[in-house]
Amino acid sequence: MVLYLKIRIILISNIENGGNVARLNKSDLREKILHLLEHTGSHPTAAWVHDRLRQEFPKVAIGTVYRNLNILVSEGKLKNVRFDDATDHFDANTSKHYHFICENCGAILDLDIPFDETLERKVSSQTGFEVHNHRLDFYGLCEHCRNLGAAAEEQEYNIRNQSVGAKGLEQASKQH
Ligand SMILES: [Zn+2]
Ligand SMILES: [Zn+2]
Repeated sequence: MVLYLKIRIILISNIENGGNVARLNKSDLREKILHLLEHTGSHPTAAWVHDRLRQEFPKVAIGTVYRNLNILVSEGKLKNVRFDDATDHFDANTSKHYHFICENCGAILDLDIPFDETLERKVSSQTGFEVHNHRLDFYGLCEHCRNLGAAAEEQEYNIRNQSVGAKGLEQASKQH
């Protein structure tokens, strides 16, 4: 039923588009890419987008994905951000914002703190340079990794205490 509806919609769209199947697929694909990006806060790479898309469009090539991502960037619908891994990451949040990068799992997260335009004015007045933009990246442990660390520390503490406890018992039994 769903398949039938899809075919029917494509057929109707084809008639409206003068039967240009390739053009229809391209905009479909681009819309799908944008949708994926708008529903993740993870700043994915083209490879990630490609993996997701292949579930629905098995024949889609990584080059096609890359080209469409770049078109979306040139249209101002996505931003292309580079971090320390020198790989393109794509961001559907096109407003000026700062990022937090987890040193353990590599997650790139948007920070909900105000973008400080006064910094640019400060640099400009101090140097006489024309400042167009600035970036601030924060590094540390995300909530998940921080909790993992705390859990590991607790486990280590428990093991140490258990072995001390066992030794204590051993000594106590020798004394009697
Ligand atoms: Zn993390
Ligand atoms: Zn972002």
